[in-house]
Amino acid sequence: MCFLCDVKHSAWSGRRGFLLAAAGSAATLAATPLLAQVDVGRSSSLRNLVPAEELESAATQEYAKLLAEAKAQGALAPPGNAQLQRLRGIAKRLIPQAAQWNDQARQWRWEVNLIGSKQINAFCMPGGKIAFYTGILEQLKLTDDEVAMIMGHEMAHALREHARARIAKSQGTGTLLSLGAQLLGLGQLGDVAANVGTQLLTLRFSREDETDADLVGLELAARGGYNPQASISLWQKMAQAGGGPGGPGFLSTHPSGPDRIQQLQANVPKVQGLYQRARG
Ligand SMILES: [Zn+2]
Repeated sequence: MCFLCDVKHSAWSGRRGFLLAAAGSAATLAATPLLAQVDVGRSSSLRNLVPAEELESAATQEYAKLLAEAKAQGALAPPGNAQLQRLRGIAKRLIPQAAQWNDQARQWRWEVNLIGSKQINAFCMPGGKIAFYTGILEQLKLTDDEVAMIMGHEMAHALREHARARIAKSQGTGTLLSLGAQLLGLGQLGDVAANVGTQLLTLRFSREDETDADLVGLELAARGGYNPQASISLWQKMAQAGGGPGGPGFLSTHPSGPDRIQQLQANVPKVQGLYQRARG
């Protein structure tokens, strides 16, 4: 069951960096439901240096590879699995909120899968390829609201195109140009796609990206009708699980310090109205 822990552990564990920037200013609960309530800036323009379509296609390949590996190990949840159905039900309420943050997401072919592994982990690749590990559901005993907060956070990384910007920053200009050329079909696409796909699994996001994902994810989940208070209980559980058997994967790259919880607390009132409207 725990194949990814062993096989991919090193790759996964380095995936993300973290911390929190200063909280956005207090916003009123405005009567403008179509506008964002959390205070985040525009996505980084650096991301434009890496073509989105090609990155998404590399992600699709990497995701398919991962699912095939899981299936071969008997660790891919079948469609009838109750936990998988639960995840897909939650995604169904969050995905309609996605286009507000990235218009391209209307064309994404979203997928949600569950992988049997003790590791505490979850991700959403560019293009909307979501996976949860059983470890994160079971070890943290997550409620639906808490699952929605994690899913929203991971979807936010994809919607805000943090991977595009991160890959652009990680490449030298020359490499980037050749990467772009190759991604555009002028070189050996297969090799480059595989290379980029692998990078997607080892990306370490910046603290700004993480803050961004926290706040955008909070709003996505609230708009989907999930209780924003769950963002607090989720990170409290994460903090308690710090040294648990699921570490160091998600927990090492998503430390649950007081800053993070405080910032979420400051933002919960901003999305409370969206939550109530969704429930009403
Ligand atoms: Zn994150």
